[in-house]
Amino acid sequence: MVHISTQLFGGVEAGGTKFVCAVGAGPDDLRAEARFPTTTPDETIRQVIEFFQPYRGRLAALGIASFGPVDLNPRSPTWGYITSTPKPGWANTDLAGPLRRALGVPVGFDTDVNGAALGEHRWGAAQGLDTFIYLTIGTGIGGGAMVGGRLVHGLLHPEMGHIRLPRDPQRDPFPGVCPFHGDCFEGLASGPALEKRWGARAETLPAEHPAWALEAHYIALALTAYICTLSPQRIILGGGVMAQPQLLPQIRAGVQALLNGYIRAPALLDSIETYLTLPALGDRAGVLGALALAQSSISNH
Ligand code: ADP
Ligand code: ZN
Repeated sequence: MVHISTQLFGGVEAGGTKFVCAVGAGPDDLRAEARFPTTTPDETIRQVIEFFQPYRGRLAALGIASFGPVDLNPRSPTWGYITSTPKPGWANTDLAGPLRRALGVPVGFDTDVNGAALGEHRWGAAQGLDTFIYLTIGTGIGGGAMVGGRLVHGLLHPEMGHIRLPRDPQRDPFPGVCPFHGDCFEGLASGPALEKRWGARAETLPAEHPAWALEAHYIALALTAYICTLSPQRIILGGGVMAQPQLLPQIRAGVQALLNGYIRAPALLDSIETYLTLPALGDRAGVLGALALAQSSISNH
C-alpha cells in the first residue's frame, strides 16, 4: 500500500504567462515553491530542472498541469508535448520528456484545468463528488471535467472554452477575439475579450458596468450547456475574471432562469450557492493540482 502522505512530490503549473513549481505532499505540506515568467521553452524548462535538482532522488513523482493544447495520449510519440499553441516558440514543445529524463521520476501530465479539477477533488471544493467541472475564466477559458471519478480526456481533451453561444448582435455587436472562432465563449467572455469590447482592462471596470451583466449571461449560457451534457454535481469557477464578486450571484440567477426548472435537482433549485462555487484552493489550485497529478501517476488516488 502506498502511503502518499509520507512521500514527497513535485508539481509544475505550466502557464502561458508563468510557471509555478512546488515540492510537497498537499496544501498543509508544501516545502518549497518558486514561480518564474514563461520565456522560451529552453530557458523555462532549465529553470524548472534547477528548482527540482536539490530534491533529485527524493521525489516519488512529478506532476505537470500545462497550458495547451497538449498531447495526453500515452501511446503517442508526442505524449507530454504542448502541441498547436499560438504562443510564440512553444508549439510542438516536449515538456514532460526533458523533465522526466533530468529528474528520473514518473511524470503525471494533464491539462492545467484537469489538474486544478483533481486538486479541488482531493483537497478543495469537489471533495466527495465523482462528476464535476472546474472552469477557469482568465486569459483564456477552459474546463477540466471529472466524470464517474475519472478525468475526461477522450479524443484529445475537452475544450469547453470554445463552444458556440447564441449572441444577440443588437445587444452585443462585438465580434469576439478567438482567432479560430471569433465569438465562441472564450472569444466573447475571456479577460482579453472584456478588455477589447469595453476598451479597458477587466479589473478596472466598475461593478455596476453593463459589462458584468453581459459577462454573467454568457457564462450562464455556457454552464447551462455543460449541465445539460455532463450532468455535473458541481461547477467550480476560477480564473482572474471571477475575482469580480458581483458576477457569481448573477451567474447563479442566470443558470436558474435559463434552465427554467426543467432539471429537477435540489442542487440546482435549492442550493445553487454550493452548486456554482469558487475554488477552495484559491491561487494554489494550479500547483496543488499538479501535485495531485503526481500522486495519481503512481497510485489509484
Ligand atoms: P491566466 O488565465 O493567464 O492564468 P488569470 O486567471 O489571472 O491568468 O486571468 C487573467 C485575466 O483575468 C486577464 O485578462 C485580466 O484582465 C483578468 N482579471 C484579473 N483580475 C481581474 C479582476 N479582479 N477582475 C476582472 N478581471 C480580472
Ligand atoms: Zn474559440
